[in-house]
Amino acid sequence: MNEIFLPFAFFRGKIIPAELAKVSIMTNALQYGTGVFGGIRGYQANNKKTFHLFRLSDHYQRFLSSLKILNAKIPYNREKLVGLTLELAARNNSKTDFYIRPLAYASNYELSPDLSLLTFDFAIYMIPLGEYLPIHKGLKIAVSSWMRINDNMIPSRAKITGGYINSALAKGDAARMGFDDALLLTSDGHIAEGSAANFFIVRDGVLITSPRNADVLEGITRRTILQLAQDLGIPTQERMIDRTECYIADEAFLSGTGAQLAWIAEIDGRIIGNGKIGEISARLQKLFFSIVRGNERKYTSWLTKV
Ligand code: PMP
Repeated sequence: MNEIFLPFAFFRGKIIPAELAKVSIMTNALQYGTGVFGGIRGYQANNKKTFHLFRLSDHYQRFLSSLKILNAKIPYNREKLVGLTLELAARNNSKTDFYIRPLAYASNYELSPDLSLLTFDFAIYMIPLGEYLPIHKGLKIAVSSWMRINDNMIPSRAKITGGYINSALAKGDAARMGFDDALLLTSDGHIAEGSAANFFIVRDGVLITSPRNADVLEGITRRTILQLAQDLGIPTQERMIDRTECYIADEAFLSGTGAQLAWIAEIDGRIIGNGKIGEISARLQKLFFSIVRGNERKYTSWLTKV
């Protein structure tokens, strides 16, 4: 993975060199995971001259919802967040595809994790980013022995920094065992999602994904894929998925800002379909990449130019 930052970050109300955007070890968020974050991709347009931020405003809507769940506030509304992000992206002037990481974090040195005492700072940094998961070869996935956090433990629909210890355990163990990613089950044994991506299967021509109340993060890409499938006339269902259904599915894939649309060849050693990318996955993947590069007029409202 890439560890090079783009040169500028937004920090304490200003754009400054990214290497100077630093916090104290006493920061509450560092102790307790009291932060929320986002992840937005910037894609080079096919004309090579501009970049497109994908569903920027939708990402900030979820970001603000995550803060609301924590009953935390920052002094920016959605329009302002969009504006700050565009300003930073223009300043960084990336030459390659990139990723934007907005972060709101409890910045005071309060010893207690008491949310009623905390104040939140807002920061953004950017990194160059190509593939996060391979998209041309099929993924090898394992169902994790770690269960997905549930809404009454750490709200799963909020992108809370502390919640990612759940992803870290599942992903780390899967990687150590030679898998590309893990699938996490809900506490009642249904498929929730991947470590940092939503999960889809195809059975008998129907595209199926876990519902929003299956302890999933409500992915922007998930919503995008469901919409594209509907536009292509592919029937969709949002419903609970049994573990064994994914073994016998015709197709399976992960979706996310990082993952994009990454198809799955194998789950727990069972080959999915014929082990090659399925027809519906391939159609959706092709359309998705065409959209983000700016080739599909119908979907340009999802793109913000930098
Ligand atoms: N689930 C989790 C746990 C994630 O971290 C992500 C990545 N943000 C997703 C799903 C996919 O969400 P999105 O499509 O909005 O990136």
